[in-house]
Amino acid sequence: MTISGSPDKPAFQGGFRDIIGHPRALDILQSMLLSEEVPHALLFMGEAGIGKRTVALTFAQTLLCHERQMPEGESEGWIEPCNRCLSCQKFAAQNHPDLTIIEPEGASIKIEQVRALQDKIIYKPLDGPKRIVIIDPADKMNAAAANGLLKTLEEPPSHAILILVTSKPFSLPETILSRCQKISFYPLSLSQVERLLTERKGCSTQEARLIASLTGGDLGEALSLEIEGARELEAALYTLVSETTLNDYDALFDAATAHSRDEAVMAQSLHYLSAWFRDVLVLQSVPNPEILDPSWLVYSWRHEEIRRWATRMNSHEVGSFLADIQEIYQAQVRNVNRQLALETLLMQLRDKVLSQKQKASG
Ligand SMILES: [Zn+2]
Repeated sequence: MTISGSPDKPAFQGGFRDIIGHPRALDILQSMLLSEEVPHALLFMGEAGIGKRTVALTFAQTLLCHERQMPEGESEGWIEPCNRCLSCQKFAAQNHPDLTIIEPEGASIKIEQVRALQDKIIYKPLDGPKRIVIIDPADKMNAAAANGLLKTLEEPPSHAILILVTSKPFSLPETILSRCQKISFYPLSLSQVERLLTERKGCSTQEARLIASLTGGDLGEALSLEIEGARELEAALYTLVSETTLNDYDALFDAATAHSRDEAVMAQSLHYLSAWFRDVLVLQSVPNPEILDPSWLVYSWRHEEIRRWATRMNSHEVGSFLADIQEIYQAQVRNVNRQLALETLLMQLRDKVLSQKQKASG
């Protein structure tokens, strides 16, 4: 099991203080712990890979902990799991009897899994006052499973707390959404990720910037991507913007096909393109780009090419491309035709970047 927020520690041995980012979500959960008023159903929603599951696990561990505490030196109103009691030990060993994690079996979460859960949670907890269920990702429940779960959400046992985790809340039926208290999670900023990469992995500023940009603020991915891998990935993604590609229709369509083949690859391509355009904007916004220190750029080793782009479009056009990229990014989780979207974008780039050059036949 990967715990993206605290990769250097063994699973379940952390606390809220080890979680990076998500200040608002943590404040809400802390106030629930302090008041001991925890809703029966919570929905953690936000982009994939930003640490929702880590927070769900930490919250579950704290609720189950026999000696949860306010750490010394902390300001009042902050509660952490003790990481020592029997409950925390069972949690760390991933065999706590009162924690159930439901994940897809094959492609989806099925009704049989929900029925098995329902048979189990009607019984009183074995170890403490609560039984906790984490369903991740909840949007993988098929229609029958979601329908089955609805019964539990309508009349939950008093000791049950369900945490549904999802990056696609709009895929869940409204009947489920309306019965959960929703907590939103937001991605870390690129500069937060960069700082963590320099602190935790000893990356140089330049390396951290490249890795953070390619992973679009997904800390788990950023921490697991080594610099050699990042450089290879950059070289592959560079085909999206290279003039060789844009000059040749066949190459352009091949690049669009290859770099949109699934959701994760498409996300990488869009992260790459946004960082590229940000570099173009940087060069456009300095009075004398000729003397700009290239280390200001994400793709500093491509600064001559980026400088050419900066002269071929104005900042308004760059802003418009950035907005398009953002729009495709938001739409792709709703299964817009990824390949067509990327092709269209590259065709527009071709027109823009090559418009002041003699276009090669293609
Ligand atoms: Zn404990």
